[in-house]
Amino acid sequence: MNWITDFVRPKLRALVGKDVPDNLWDKCSKCEQMIFHRDLAENSFVCRHCGNHMRLEAKKRLELLFDEQEYTRIPTPKVTLDPLKFKDLKKYSDRLKDARHKTEEEDAILIAMGRIGGQKSIVVAFEFNFMGGSMGTAVGAGLVAAAKTAVKHKAPLIVIPSSGGARMQEGILSLMQMPRTTIAVRQVKEAGLPYITILTDPTTGGVSASFAMLGDIAIAEPGAMIGFAGARVIQQTIRHALPEGFQTAEYLLEHGMIDMVVPRQQIKGRLVALISLLMKPRV
Ligand SMILES: [Zn+2]
Repeated sequence: MNWITDFVRPKLRALVGKDVPDNLWDKCSKCEQMIFHRDLAENSFVCRHCGNHMRLEAKKRLELLFDEQEYTRIPTPKVTLDPLKFKDLKKYSDRLKDARHKTEEEDAILIAMGRIGGQKSIVVAFEFNFMGGSMGTAVGAGLVAAAKTAVKHKAPLIVIPSSGGARMQEGILSLMQMPRTTIAVRQVKEAGLPYITILTDPTTGGVSASFAMLGDIAIAEPGAMIGFAGARVIQQTIRHALPEGFQTAEYLLEHGMIDMVVPRQQIKGRLVALISLLMKPRV
């Protein structure tokens, strides 16, 4: 029972004489407080009550980072769809169709070019709503394209994973994206350009085991779950209780796995500072 849904909403309905849309209020997934949707959006989807960083659509990520919210999208390269003709409870081709319809995106990443603190930059943002941000051939090809674009424009590459890992419907082909993306980001490093990661909730599986943990600078959002296998699987395997806060951004920072935990509203400022330091003209 909740006083907003059970008490306030009926009162509002009576007052305005029509149905109040359900999406007017959001519930924090951590503290369960009801928050007015517009307030939440204004606060970049961070709960004002408990500081919980909720998952953010990839488009909103791009808006938060680029100067004047201006950027150009770089299309993800075309790849063979459903190469294994995979079917579980549903056909993979149908799952793809549904995900495309739901997110209006081709696959689980958005690639964009724009300026961050005046510096031309390439950003890759994962869309978790697209099949859990899973990495298949299209995501791998997209990361390769983004890395090449960064090298071509002598621009830093910033990648923001939000992903459950490899896309199981593409079997071995999705696992092959791990070395492929690793080589892609190495090309950026070899060109002397910064490769920065912003790890968001969740960064797990094959994504954390490849490009996501290779940033020259690894930033993470507070409370983000970052790890390879799930905590329950690990606990069952080692038969040992796991420490508190295991696989959170803060735990990884304490153990030297990432460089900084930065609240969402401060990430842009931090990024501008890092890019200007790393892109200083070299003599
Ligand atoms: Zn909250």
